[in-house]
Amino acid sequence: MPEIPEMEVYKKQLNETIRFKKIVDVEINRPQSINMEPEEFREKVIDELPVYIGRRGKHLVLTLGNGVYLVGHLMLGGRLYLAKPEEKLKTKGSIVFHFLDGKRLYFINFRLGWLHALDREGMDEKLATLGIEPLDKEFSLEKFTSMLSEKKATIKSLLVDQQFIAGIGNCYSDEILFNASIRPDRKADDLRVGEISSLYSAIPFTLKEAILNGGYMDKPFAKDDKLTGGQNKLLKVYDREGENCYLCSDKIEMTMISGKKSYFCPTCQK
Ligand SMILES: [Zn+2]
Repeated sequence: MPEIPEMEVYKKQLNETIRFKKIVDVEINRPQSINMEPEEFREKVIDELPVYIGRRGKHLVLTLGNGVYLVGHLMLGGRLYLAKPEEKLKTKGSIVFHFLDGKRLYFINFRLGWLHALDREGMDEKLATLGIEPLDKEFSLEKFTSMLSEKKATIKSLLVDQQFIAGIGNCYSDEILFNASIRPDRKADDLRVGEISSLYSAIPFTLKEAILNGGYMDKPFAKDDKLTGGQNKLLKVYDREGENCYLCSDKIEMTMISGKKSYFCPTCQK
């Protein structure tokens, strides 16, 4: 499932390509993905233009000129693709936006994913339970330390808890814990001051590095996209069970924590 880096890469690419481009048509091939009748959705969107494409947690937020917010979540397997006017695609797409310049934005494989048209109040309500943004200024060491205090949960399960911190999932929680040299099964209230500080630094470091490298999505955003997926071959522990740790050469292990696969190096992480 895409996390902050993947959504930031989409956000950047969408702002570069579809911002201020007029929407001339919308195909709804999977009505379950939207929050109203397709005709009503089309009325809210057609002839409008995205004025900004933002992100909150793992959600994408497209702000339209008429004050409608398109809030979406790709969930598991969902992805975006921007096709050139002449480009033919094998997939029909769950939702397809057609722009005045002939390009088409595909929301693909939205078996679980969704895209809701909301007003400001509806959006605030939809995103109300999300925790702090780890790349925001408000996410300070002091704040993080107080968030962790008296938390009995494992640090892995806290990092992926969207109400605790928004936008971190299974992959980057493992990468962050490796960069901080902390085992995923440690209890939050058991971390020492120095460990909390390492963990705090590892969060933005890990996420920003992955954003610069294009995140881990394995399918491109567009035909000429060379950015997406660059982080895939740079992951240090995630999905590397049995492979050698790049730092110490020991084997990466996998353990289940609160029903989630957690990859770690038993030597580098304490
Ligand atoms: Zn190691």
